[in-house]
Amino acid sequence: MKTSDLLEPPTTPKPVQGETPMAPAPTPASEPTAPPRDREPESVIDTSKMNQAQREALELTEAARTVTNYRSFAGDLFMGRFTLDHVYPFPLQPAADIEAGRPFLAELNKILKYEVDADRIDADGEIPEAVIDRLAKLGAFGIKVPKEYGGLGLSQLNYCRAAMLLGSVDGNLTALLSAHQSIGVPQPVKLFGTEAQKKKYLPRVARGEISAFALTENSVGSDPAKMTTRAEPTADGKSFVINGEKLWCTNGTKAGVIVVMTRTPGEIVQGKEKNRITAFIVEMNTPGVEVVTRCHFMGLRALYNGVIRFTNVTVPRENILGGEGRGLKVALTTLNTGRLTIPAGCAGLMKRCLGYAREWAAERTQWGQAIGKHAAIADKIARIAANAFATEAMTVMTAALVDRDKADIRIEAAMCKMFGSEAAWRAVDETMQIRGGRGYETAQSLKNRGEQAVPIERLMRDARINLIFEGSSEIMRLFLAREALDPHLKVAGGALDSRLPMAKRAAAGLKAFGFYAHWYPGLLLPRGGAPSDFTPAFKPALAYAAKMSRRLARTLFHAMVKHGPALEKKQLTLGRIVDIGTEVFAIVATALHADALAKRGDGQYPREEVEQLVQSFVADAKARIAGSFAALAHNNDGRNYKLTQSILEGKHGYLRRGIVE
Ligand SMILES: Cc1cc2nc3c(=O)[nH]c(=O)nc-3n(C[C@H](O)[C@H](O)[C@H](O)COP(=O)(O)OP(=O)(O)OC[C@H]3O[C@@H](n4cnc5c(N)ncnc54)[C@H](O)[C@@H]3O)c2cc1C
Repeated sequence: MKTSDLLEPPTTPKPVQGETPMAPAPTPASEPTAPPRDREPESVIDTSKMNQAQREALELTEAARTVTNYRSFAGDLFMGRFTLDHVYPFPLQPAADIEAGRPFLAELNKILKYEVDADRIDADGEIPEAVIDRLAKLGAFGIKVPKEYGGLGLSQLNYCRAAMLLGSVDGNLTALLSAHQSIGVPQPVKLFGTEAQKKKYLPRVARGEISAFALTENSVGSDPAKMTTRAEPTADGKSFVINGEKLWCTNGTKAGVIVVMTRTPGEIVQGKEKNRITAFIVEMNTPGVEVVTRCHFMGLRALYNGVIRFTNVTVPRENILGGEGRGLKVALTTLNTGRLTIPAGCAGLMKRCLGYAREWAAERTQWGQAIGKHAAIADKIARIAANAFATEAMTVMTAALVDRDKADIRIEAAMCKMFGSEAAWRAVDETMQIRGGRGYETAQSLKNRGEQAVPIERLMRDARINLIFEGSSEIMRLFLAREALDPHLKVAGGALDSRLPMAKRAAAGLKAFGFYAHWYPGLLLPRGGAPSDFTPAFKPALAYAAKMSRRLARTLFHAMVKHGPALEKKQLTLGRIVDIGTEVFAIVATALHADALAKRGDGQYPREEVEQLVQSFVADAKARIAGSFAALAHNNDGRNYKLTQSILEGKHGYLRRGIVE
């Protein structure tokens, strides 16, 4: 595709056979309240060119998507609006909040340092009961559960700080505590539970009764529309009977109580049964609940993850969470904040990698000098450091917006998850390369030879899953693309919807024209940039981000004009647009965080050092952004897509020759 192509007028879209439309549209992490803006019209998506399965998946997730009137900073970047109102000054953790979290975090730090042997846990595939008990007594199973329900009542930021500590030591413990309270019973009950449910379950789970979240099934990975686990109401309507099987339920083999997503009898709309998904709180000791098997993975070897079968499991109606038919909303909303734990853990992992890389690069001498003096190795360390700082900045900023504004952070959290998990994977990969053969060797083997037991091999095995669970990278890109397009779907969706009568489409088109005639020229004018009291060294970064936001908005608009409704099927085009938006968000979060830290003046963040790191990060991010823009203009997407389809059709049989058949 050439850039000039993007300026073509709208064409009649050709449906692309087999391409998957963007789908999941998760909802806000908490019920957002501020800052308000005028109600906007509903977004309109033309589903007429989709096959039935695609339409069902889209309609289901769209129905669960909460429409709020919160204007997210990251979301605005896709519209070329660069307003720092909610994020500047950087929302640093208030002193009282730091104090509130200090005793817990200090004790958690001590436990992780002195009482947890992560390599032993990995080797045994078990977390010692003593460690679980110790964490439970500390309150680590109820970090965000309000005090009135027996939890610690700490903030999202303190929870993220805990995740960063955990992520720097052991992926298994991070997953245990995160699956329990980010997605298990505490978070959805806190958000959607009735008062009776909160009183009944929150004290139990806060005390350390392990919980889990069961959504995935054999045919339900990223697409919940295919769910087969069913809950049928009993004749008296007082209970439901659940039948089905859930896959890969983390903590499921140890949990006392779990949240289960089920299909319940649908509403009949225009003679057709509509999909309905309902969430139930299920006690694991209910007759008919069976842990079929414990699953084992490449990493996270002490994950208590299993297949859970439900055979005529009777659950009282009062165990419905969030209301009948609102299960997907419960699940997606829960995941929105839930997935913020992952980048926090990833920031911890990256800092750990940086420590190992720094030590080894200074100590190991090859070809006459420390390997850290060789440019190829030095470059890797700079990137690990810069990405660790950026991931922390993005995550801290997003968590702070939850605490301070109860903000709708779905876009920011998805960006943090995608960016953080991918950056951590690269960091652990580069750390392995820096440690060479020792990176590939197990910690135990290193120890047996009398060397320091550096567990890069374990960290790598444990890190990979972060790109898959709680919203895979592909799904995060689709989700972000859906959110990026949302303002346009509201403004122009009606005009492009082939299901509507021509008169309605023409009226919608006229309205859209009015909007774009005003909006588009504004994108050509220089706007935004750094506040006057901003640290001078970081001002160019904000000016660049403002400029890129306007270019991004123009590019997205051009792509819409070129592809019309078919844009939603252009996953790689949208992915690049999302990547640019995410990098711009990362630059802004990094610069704002650095500005706030540099202004502290307590010597903990020496200004020149922070400046040096930020300049490196921004220069790298700029290069990635330039690469994405270039790939939007010139790419091989169409050719590769066709090649894959012909491979899938069984052609290119010669590639199967020469290997053992
Ligand atoms: C260790 C582990 C722990 C887990 N814990 C839990 C848990 O506690 N509770 C729970 O419910 N689930 C859990 N899961 C499930 C996890 O969330 C899923 O693996 C994840 O949602 C992806 O589903 P899938 O593996 O079936 O992949 P699929 O959905 O089959 O996807 C396969 C690949 O295709 C991509 N893909 C899918 N759809 C699209 C699309 N529309 N466009 C482009 N690409 C697409 C995916 O990104 C992926 O790369 C866990 C999984 C693992 C491995």
